[in-house]
Amino acid sequence: EDEVNIIRSVLDLREKLVVDIMTPMEDVFTLSIHCILDEKLVHKILSNGYSRIPIKESDTCFNYIGMLLVKNLISYDSDDKLPVSHFPISPLPETYVDTSCHMAIVSNNPGSYGGALGVITLEDVIEGLIGEEIVDE
Ligand code: ADP
Repeated sequence: EDEVNIIRSVLDLREKLVVDIMTPMEDVFTLSIHCILDEKLVHKILSNGYSRIPIKESDTCFNYIGMLLVKNLISYDSDDKLPVSHFPISPLPETYVDTSCHMAIVSNNPGSYGGALGVITLEDVIEGLIGEEIVDE
């Protein structure tokens, strides 16, 4: 019964848009690249419990330049009071409200050479999940 419900929900994802399942920005924990990681902020980061934090270019803008992986703070001593910019900032891919969960074109990063590299569908994601190729009926 549980398995049937899970598979049904996964197949229903095809009908959904990214906007239907996203976490809205007002609920997202973000930081600016200039924030100082003092004891108070590190405590806040750890108590939020997220593994990835979207990073803004400044306190006042909404331009996201990448993400901070919280695991990079494991050996950090908050007495050092370093800014977020001291740590590696990982790329944060961008997608669009009307992207369907069914199929997307995979392109090179904006500005780099080459057009579409391939397509990815929900089936590819599920194959990635179960580690086997699905043979369609
Ligand atoms: P984590 O590994 O941090 O638990 P997941 O990737 O498993 O995060 O996502 C779990 C849920 O938390 C998802 O709904 C996702 O949208 C949300 N989420 C992830 N990172 C953040 C964040 N920095 N602020 C708010 N919500 C987040």
